[in-house]
Amino acid sequence: MTDYPQKVSDSFNERLRLIRLRRKKENLRFWDEFRIIPRWLIGLVIFLFLVGQAIALLVNIDAASHGGVMFPPDFQNDPALAFLASAGIVTGVSLVLASIVFLIAYVNRDAKRRGMNSALWTILVIIFLPTWGLIGLIIYLLMREPLPYNCPQCGATVGARFNFCPNCKCNLHPSCPQCRREVAETDKYCPYCASDLAAAKTVSEKELPSLPR
Ligand SMILES: [Zn+2]
Ligand SMILES: [Zn+2]
Repeated sequence: MTDYPQKVSDSFNERLRLIRLRRKKENLRFWDEFRIIPRWLIGLVIFLFLVGQAIALLVNIDAASHGGVMFPPDFQNDPALAFLASAGIVTGVSLVLASIVFLIAYVNRDAKRRGMNSALWTILVIIFLPTWGLIGLIIYLLMREPLPYNCPQCGATVGARFNFCPNCKCNLHPSCPQCRREVAETDKYCPYCASDLAAAKTVSEKELPSLPR
């Protein structure tokens, strides 16, 4: 029947549907997302940054007082510039390392809250880092499951793969009454045949209140 896509394209269609659902429901903001990174890790990174700065400073103070070679050697004749340059280098390296650490921590926490295998995804992102850079992160961002969301009818938390709300039986994957293809409940018109979904919904709710699909 035309109602059902062939099995080969099933999982691909499901993946596309999940990506579409995620785009509609998830309005992620950078700082809100940043907050899922554990506080202790942020504290540890800041601590290591300060330790790095202190070491660079002490090494240069020692070199300056004993007439040794200051770091970086290009500013040997200007101690003030050498202090500034070493602090800048430490800051730059720390920023790159901190970004990588925070990205890995983000993937770990984000996968966990989405009910995915967080250890596996963390390892995947890490093993791609040295050779392929952020490709692991990109794969993760494409493959991640949508966050659980609230049922549009009763507000209970439902998983992204649920077909019906376990609390109120609300149809979470409504289909177009005309072409029978799946639509999102936020769609006003069917994306495949342009039939008016809002009008159809009011009719079906009045006439067939307990029809599952
Ligand atoms: Zn519900
Ligand atoms: Zn349609």
